[in-house]
Amino acid sequence: MVIGGTWFLRPEPTVAVSAELADVGSPVVLAARAAPPAPQPVTTPESALPAPAPDAVALTFDDGPHPEFTIPILDILDRYGVKATFFVLGENVEQHPEILAEILRRGHSIAPHSIHHDELTKMDDARLHAELLGASEIVKRVTNQQPTCHRPPYGSHDARTDAAASGLGLSTIMWQVDTNDWRKPGAGRIATTAGGAAGGQIVLMHDGGGDRSQTVAALPGIIESIRSRGLRIVPICANVRAAPVSGPARF
Ligand SMILES: [Zn+2]
Repeated sequence: MVIGGTWFLRPEPTVAVSAELADVGSPVVLAARAAPPAPQPVTTPESALPAPAPDAVALTFDDGPHPEFTIPILDILDRYGVKATFFVLGENVEQHPEILAEILRRGHSIAPHSIHHDELTKMDDARLHAELLGASEIVKRVTNQQPTCHRPPYGSHDARTDAAASGLGLSTIMWQVDTNDWRKPGAGRIATTAGGAAGGQIVLMHDGGGDRSQTVAALPGIIESIRSRGLRIVPICANVRAAPVSGPARF
């Protein structure tokens, strides 16, 4: 699924489970038929949703983890008690797994942004699958959490890439507010653009891929501006299907 202004949850496969019970002639099948299971209540925490609520803004940082800029961003977020979302590159995670672990330790959401930052729409099916699955597995290896979202490099996606991601349990996450911080327009411009985000919107910034000192400098003002308008700042895409730390990896 693609996230624009709406989101939805994947239904639990209760029907398939019932059919399986019937096939094996389990004695519980009669009880199951007499009293079909009630729908499970939605207990998904807000941080796991792939879009912010109407009274909230999501700050997202792409292309990290970066040895120089990610930690300063984490420190500012901590100072304000803000949780954000980091779309990380598999190749950078492999170089700096300790920084990814620190992002996780401080309570932020983490999701893959491919391994090599190439355009997914220009890949054949095999390479596309390898980039999506590989980045997801790299993140999972460090965090022991199964990612539930991904962001395509350059925002380049189509029905084929979205379907491939969806097949791996990954929602495709874009944005509504583009700071263009990678163009280094100045901290003031970045702060004005991101700080003006409306409720329900996702803001695109970068902690990696180049000199992000302007993004770091802009961040306090961004947070203060968003909050001054009565909006909350929330993470999105937090994993809700994490395996126990000591348990086996599941795919
Ligand atoms: Zn990127």
